[in-house]
Amino acid sequence: MPHPATGTRTTATHCPYCSLQCGVTMTAGDRPATLVPADFPVNRGGLCSKGWSAPELLDHPERLTRPLVRAVPGDRTSPLVESTWDDALDRIVTAVRTTQDRHGRDAVGCFGGGGLTNEQAYQFGKFARVALRTSAIDYNGRFCMSSAAGAAIKALGLDRGMPFPLADVAEADVVVLVGSNPADTMPPAMQYFDAGRARGAELIVVDPRRTNTAKNASLHLQPLPGTDLALANGLLHIALAEGLVDEAYIAARTTGFDDVRAGVAGYWPDRVERLTGVPVAQQRRTVFALARGKRAIILSARGAEQHRSGTDTALAWINLALALGLPGREGSGWGTVTGQGNGQGGREHGQKADQLPGYRKITDPAARAHVAAVWGVDPESIPGPGRSAFEMLDALGTDGGVRTMLVLASNIAVSAPDARRVISRLGNLDFLAVSDFFLSETAELADVVLPSAMWAEEEGTMTNLEGRVVRRRQAMSAPDGVRDDLQSLAELAGRLGAAGFSGDAGTVFAELGRASAGGAADYSGISYDRIDAEDGVFWPCPQTPAGAPEHPGTPRLFTERFATPDGRARFHRVEHVDAHERPDAQYPYVLTTGRVLAQYQSGTQTRRSRSLQLIAPTPRAELHPDLARTLGIAQGDAVELATRRGRARFHAQVTDTIRPDVVFVPFHWGGGASANALTDPALDPTSRMPAFKVCAVAVTRVGVAEERIPAPEPAAQPQPLAHTPPTAHTPHAPSRRRTTSVKSTPRFLSGVYPITGEGLGKPGPVDPALRYQVPEGRTAQALYFRGGNSTDELVYLLLVRDGEPMRWFPIGAKGDCHVPLRVVEDLDGGTVVELHAAAPLGVTGEIVVDLGLVEV
Ligand code: SF4
Repeated sequence: MPHPATGTRTTATHCPYCSLQCGVTMTAGDRPATLVPADFPVNRGGLCSKGWSAPELLDHPERLTRPLVRAVPGDRTSPLVESTWDDALDRIVTAVRTTQDRHGRDAVGCFGGGGLTNEQAYQFGKFARVALRTSAIDYNGRFCMSSAAGAAIKALGLDRGMPFPLADVAEADVVVLVGSNPADTMPPAMQYFDAGRARGAELIVVDPRRTNTAKNASLHLQPLPGTDLALANGLLHIALAEGLVDEAYIAARTTGFDDVRAGVAGYWPDRVERLTGVPVAQQRRTVFALARGKRAIILSARGAEQHRSGTDTALAWINLALALGLPGREGSGWGTVTGQGNGQGGREHGQKADQLPGYRKITDPAARAHVAAVWGVDPESIPGPGRSAFEMLDALGTDGGVRTMLVLASNIAVSAPDARRVISRLGNLDFLAVSDFFLSETAELADVVLPSAMWAEEEGTMTNLEGRVVRRRQAMSAPDGVRDDLQSLAELAGRLGAAGFSGDAGTVFAELGRASAGGAADYSGISYDRIDAEDGVFWPCPQTPAGAPEHPGTPRLFTERFATPDGRARFHRVEHVDAHERPDAQYPYVLTTGRVLAQYQSGTQTRRSRSLQLIAPTPRAELHPDLARTLGIAQGDAVELATRRGRARFHAQVTDTIRPDVVFVPFHWGGGASANALTDPALDPTSRMPAFKVCAVAVTRVGVAEERIPAPEPAAQPQPLAHTPPTAHTPHAPSRRRTTSVKSTPRFLSGVYPITGEGLGKPGPVDPALRYQVPEGRTAQALYFRGGNSTDELVYLLLVRDGEPMRWFPIGAKGDCHVPLRVVEDLDGGTVVELHAAAPLGVTGEIVVDLGLVEV
């Protein structure tokens, strides 16, 4: 580890936490180190409580400063004891060799993190492919960004979270934020939203909770978790119906719109209101705001993306943006708000199972040849794609699965879905090595723990949410005995007999640039000097020929063409599917998870910060007052949440900011308050993103308000369920092309019929004509019922669906009734609908029946 000059000095660097990567100025040398916010382009002097408190942890008494090993090698019940680097690395090398000799190269796996620098992420990917020759590598960004990334690549040809600078938000006339809460997760970013609102811009927030972001919005849409796709399709339906789509843009810059046009015909506003809970008026206001704004931006985030249909949901919002002509238009576009500090760079340089540096595909022969040449290896020696993060974790210790694993900067025992199942799988490993600053819940399970340098003690680059590559400069020396992960990987690679690994960040960055050259995420024209001089450089930034001007970097993408072979963006028709788990009698509510202001990710760092603990000391389950009243729960009571995976306990926070049918818990804690002990690992079929944001939950009060909540009994380990691909409705055949109306067919069951009563408890078919079967491939919905009764007694009509009663319509003596039915559920193809009637025994007369349906 190179040491900076002794004595006090100040260094411009960046906050260790989220993707905003706020600039800070650190004063260090004479500990304790301090920092102040810098006037860097993204934070402009702002900083949140997490950033302010970050230096506290550099000298924290629980900081690991020596490698830890098991007192009895191979026995994880024996205590972790301090050891030497030599011993620790020897044990790792021995385990790697033993496992690969017995079980093959892929039996050794690597798991990385979105907090690693670009250099570390690159080196980790190279270490797996060159030193270990294993395909088994993935990272926790799979739990974070992969759905938005997959959607962006499909639609736009390139995944860079925001394809424009954050400053564009301040200039926009309307911004729609879907499933994002920057007021709590990255407060300094709110200055851009606030500046827009001060100019009269509209901020529209889509979130099941009335978050601090939503409270300041001009409009808050509060959908049921897991219904954002239906909402986006519904907004596009309205845009079409109102003639608001940009036909010229669609014709000039996109392909595939006709199929989407046909698909969204089925998302008429009333149906979308029923699916999502968002009133029609709010849907319409959102569409008109977006369409009328000269500069309009749609930003999605994890709330919309962490679902089993997360990729399709992101695609639905991209479809809307494309139809309104936003991407590539000045000051407009679609983007996704990255979460982790280097969530963007971490997925560009090879620590993802299917990627090589430069955002290259590992299956692409040309990509393999290019990267192999940089690495000085045979392209054939580079393994193919491995399993995605959860799939790798779920196969730990099994035949064909990973048996020895190296984890860098990731606390999967807390952050993985169905966390207790993952903890159980970690216990099945033959050997686990973890590199971290603290003894995280994952490190506690390891055979060897390596103490790694923290953010202020290492050199490297990060790529923030805008695609701006920034420098994390070393501001101080690491404690004796602590090493940068770059150095640890270089040392391990050498011990495994692999050459060409450096522990110097500048050397690795230069190599990363060469490896990325010509790829989608081309860093070859970026240097540390340029980053220093320009306050960061936006990729792609290819190297130019000697003597030519430097490439300026690319703050705004897609202004001329999209990154697809023909330069056009692709529409993708996507359909709403129900959440993998829906509430039922046993688990009657919807659970959603997320972050709170004063904690970050798995909390390995922030839970150890004294100042942050004062703000957010314990995890709280947010419940609506109506739900709390129903369940007999008061503010602060201990509550137990149970799902099909396990149970966890929290303090109740009764608040009307959440829907009455939804419970929210933060995921920063482990142990008895582990939100991820509850979450559903059902995976998105494209991105392999788990469905963190929605599952079915039961809530029980287990105690009065108290400071500490006893943990629940350990949960039984359920058997993993096979993932069932989402079942969408059978696509409807596109009907005649129209842009301003719904392609639907009215259907009626109507007429005047005689009735003879057999008793009110004995309804029967009125007439064979009062029967309708929904054609295969189509969907129908009952819109209204009108009925009249000529008898002197109460009668009733019964709407029967596939032989089962669906709705009752009582009609008084000589009376009539009219019932709007737009809240009745969809009738899928093949469904049979009939009308039955009942009247008191012996009563005769006539009834008038008129049931209106719409078929799409
Ligand atoms: S956590 Fe994010 S918003 Fe807060 S100071 Fe750090 S980079 Fe800035």
